[in-house]
Amino acid sequence: MISFEIPEKITNELQMAKMVAESIMRQYSRYYDEHEHERPVEYINMMWPIMREQYKRSTAKLQENGNGSGPKKKKDGPDMGIMRLIMMIEMLSWGDAGQYLCTPDPALGGAAVNAVGTREQKIRVLGKFGEGEPKWGAMAMTEPGAGSDTSNIRTNAVLDEETNEWVLNGEKIFCTNGGLALDESNGFVVVWATIDASAGRAGMKSFIVEAGAPGVTVAKREHKLGIRVSDTVSIIFENARIPADNILGSAEVVKRDGSTKGFKGAMATFDASRPAVAASAMGICRAALEFTRAKLKEEGIEVDYTKPKNQMTAMERDLLEMEARHKAAWLLTVRSIALMAHGKPNRLEASMCKARAGETVTWVTQKAVELLGPMGYTREWLTEKWMRDAKINDIYEGTKQINTLIVARSILGYSRRELK
Ligand SMILES: Cc1cc2nc3c(=O)[nH]c(=O)nc-3n(C[C@H](O)[C@H](O)[C@H](O)COP(=O)(O)OP(=O)(O)OC[C@H]3O[C@@H](n4cnc5c(N)ncnc54)[C@H](O)[C@@H]3O)c2cc1C
Repeated sequence: MISFEIPEKITNELQMAKMVAESIMRQYSRYYDEHEHERPVEYINMMWPIMREQYKRSTAKLQENGNGSGPKKKKDGPDMGIMRLIMMIEMLSWGDAGQYLCTPDPALGGAAVNAVGTREQKIRVLGKFGEGEPKWGAMAMTEPGAGSDTSNIRTNAVLDEETNEWVLNGEKIFCTNGGLALDESNGFVVVWATIDASAGRAGMKSFIVEAGAPGVTVAKREHKLGIRVSDTVSIIFENARIPADNILGSAEVVKRDGSTKGFKGAMATFDASRPAVAASAMGICRAALEFTRAKLKEEGIEVDYTKPKNQMTAMERDLLEMEARHKAAWLLTVRSIALMAHGKPNRLEASMCKARAGETVTWVTQKAVELLGPMGYTREWLTEKWMRDAKINDIYEGTKQINTLIVARSILGYSRRELK
């Protein structure tokens, strides 16, 4: 049995996150939307000491006890840290999803290191986040010719045995926090590259590229529809050199009837990152829902839950539908995280909640703009911004279509080849 009750400790921490969301993120939401590529320094400066302390503690723990890879089922119950993280992401995204993405932490790069990295790699790479100035981590998988179909990745890595370094060549695009990680801090990016293009996914490996690595250039900063404060860049690797032990997982290529050792690392990362994206989507969704409900209430429009649906006005029915879709997507998200916290597989649920949350936030925020009339469309209110911010949740960490495909394959028992 999985309990959905939130422990008191997390509830208290959420109150603090709510304060940050209200007093900092919401206050600067419009400013950073209109000043793309400026950094949300108020939020970053507020969050860094908290993140630094957290990583200082977790690194010390790792140094004392040792730790393997992947989520662990602990003897004394579920891993509440994962649940806490997801609740925090929801709350901070309720404040402002773009600013939340600028949180100084290892982010997706950290998820990859945690999923498949060695203890030494975790201490070396994530330990940096427990000291000094703000830092960022990122993950670079997408390329001009490889988005949904990651088997097309062309960035390659070759081991130079003389210098004991990997030499990387290629281009990554749309990397969240890539500029912050490599140009503006002493951070790192986890880069997916092939060490054997003929092996397809089995040849794919991930590499830790740290700030200052020679041959790495942040080339372009994107102008975007939503989450405009979030840093999105392309990165060029021209004979970029990194130490041999910066590979995550084994350098061996194992071809076994379509099985893909290297790619398993990416999948393990997605099991954790997709629920996180879903939680962020749910934060925006709740923001739009609460605002719409409050504004309609001012006009005397409220849902009377005792009334049958056919006696409600169209607006009341819409509001009810927004609430229902939000609740369904949130429960799917919590379920996928609860499984993970209990050390159980959650791949199906991670894709389910990601697909549903992306679709839901897109629909709910559009409805909010629609129900609030012209004011919902103006820049005086944040509804139009939430609508723009929402759409990314349908795109990154696997589009809705790709996650739906994963769900279908899993339920119907089809392989990647049988259903694509
Ligand atoms: C703001 C932003 C931030 C991002 N951050 C990162 C990041 O940090 N790291 C990173 O690696 N990437 C990042 N991405 C890239 C993102 O993950 C990709 O855009 C996404 O995976 C889709 O790939 P694509 O753009 O190449 O689209 P394509 O794969 O070309 O897809 C185009 C359309 O076709 C659909 N489609 C594709 N294949 C199928 C299929 N088999 N069946 C049905 N429909 C299909 C897709 O769902 C989509 O609707 C980011 C993107 C954006 C916009």
